[in-house]
Amino acid sequence: MSNCLFCDIVSGKIPSPHCLDTEDAVVIRDIAPAAPKHFLVLSRRHVDSLNDADSGVVAGLFEAATRWARAEGFDREGYRAVINVLELGGQTVPHLHLHLLAGRAMNWPPG
Ligand code: 5GP
Ligand code: ZN
Repeated sequence: MSNCLFCDIVSGKIPSPHCLDTEDAVVIRDIAPAAPKHFLVLSRRHVDSLNDADSGVVAGLFEAATRWARAEGFDREGYRAVINVLELGGQTVPHLHLHLLAGRAMNWPPG
């Protein structure tokens, strides 16, 4: 086991069904969904947070996110794609990931 939960999910050391695998990212279901559809797009490469991500990594995350939104069909009705960054941003797992939330109206401003 590495000392990173999401690295272990990406590598398969921790079993967690992958919804989508791309060159740059892995999409999984969030264990504690905050919406009827709640997916996490994990960077395949370990990066602590958005602060440390180069443009290729960020592009890879969004490419996987939009691909999965289309595959699931919620691209048409709308959804939220969000990256929490460090403590005040609400990041609890220190491995870069993007949340995809869909299936209900999202509030703005977010909590
Ligand atoms: P953050 O707060 O870092 O932006 O998001 C971390 C997300 O990971 C949370 O929404 C949390 O529910 C989810 N999560 C934490 N541990 C696990 C896990 O073991 N498996 C999955 N699928 N999701 C997890
Ligand atoms: Zn990691």
